[in-house]
Amino acid sequence: MIIKKIDFSKYSSIKIGGTLELKIAQNLDEAMNLAQNHYLIGKANNILISENVTRIFQLGSEFDYINDSDDLLEIGARTNGRKLFLHAKTHDLGGLEFLGALPGSVGGIVKMNAGMKEYEIKNMLHSVCVNGVWHEANAIDFKYRNSGIEGIISAVKIKKIRGFSGILESAFKQMRLNQPKEPSCGSCFKNPCGILEGEIPLSEIRGKSLANEVSGEILPEIPNAEIPGESPDEILLKSKSQIPAGKLLENVGLRGFKIGNMGFSEKHANFLINYGGGKFEEAIELINLAKQRVFKEFGIKLECEIIILDFTYD
Ligand SMILES: Cc1cc2nc3c(=O)[nH]c(=O)nc-3n(C[C@H](O)[C@H](O)[C@H](O)COP(=O)(O)OP(=O)(O)OC[C@H]3O[C@@H](n4cnc5c(N)ncnc54)[C@H](O)[C@@H]3O)c2cc1C
Repeated sequence: MIIKKIDFSKYSSIKIGGTLELKIAQNLDEAMNLAQNHYLIGKANNILISENVTRIFQLGSEFDYINDSDDLLEIGARTNGRKLFLHAKTHDLGGLEFLGALPGSVGGIVKMNAGMKEYEIKNMLHSVCVNGVWHEANAIDFKYRNSGIEGIISAVKIKKIRGFSGILESAFKQMRLNQPKEPSCGSCFKNPCGILEGEIPLSEIRGKSLANEVSGEILPEIPNAEIPGESPDEILLKSKSQIPAGKLLENVGLRGFKIGNMGFSEKHANFLINYGGGKFEEAIELINLAKQRVFKEFGIKLECEIIILDFTYD
């Protein structure tokens, strides 16, 4: 095992966190031992970490590989998603184009069932090795931004499908160009799922109950309040059954709203961004404020997509 000191205000994508001790597991036995009382991180693109956190670990270089066989690719969990994307591009394999625009390790990407639009990693998985045991992907209960996997993902196998799409690659790149450039973890909140379908003005979802597929609970009635200063019909829910969290944040006045050096982006309200020197506490304050306002206005409980780490083990 290797022990490193890592400055998370430089290492994490949101540039928050102190200089913390990070243990590096060089094989699965070490990883399994550490997992008993340490938290496993990937490449810190989706975590908001406080300065108080102790006992974290990462998989080492032994888990960084791509084995290309006849029908499948086997990829170590530490491997960068972009490295897998480049392998797919070089070998004319399709279905992984979104990884060109999505930061993270393969382990983190599978754990989060990360993706863009309808392209999610679950669609490409053949099997996943968790705590040293291979599981068929179709036996895993993947949901939106959640794999439900408990344990260490050490490697995955991916289906090889002929035909890399340059068009998709450009489309994903384009999507990124329209998003904020400041440090962030990507989307702060998951888009709440509802029973609504089609294009619906936000004004119409007030007064209706939504079944929240994310938490499985039936949400309370949405208050019938007006949206101050906005024409409700300008705000349409375009996705089939997901309500864009960014639209909800905009509607409660949080687009461009800052506390200290953190804020919800002017460009895309669901990006919690660090304007430079932003603090963990400021980020938490903004997250709590957003949850409170959206619940009060729409009766919807926002769920964080980013993972908040604020614990110490003695
Ligand atoms: C600018 C930006 C844009 C983004 N856009 C998107 C997007 O469009 N779509 C999307 O889905 N995500 C997006 N994200 C979020 C991020 O890219 C994904 O969540 C990614 O999967 C994180 O990978 P990571 O290795 O950095 O994991 P980390 O952030 O380090 O960890 C995330 C979670 O994965 C777990 N984990 C990590 N490795 C393993 C492992 N080997 N075994 C078990 N659990 C593990 C951790 O415990 C943690 O719970 C974006 C992030 C940024 C910074």
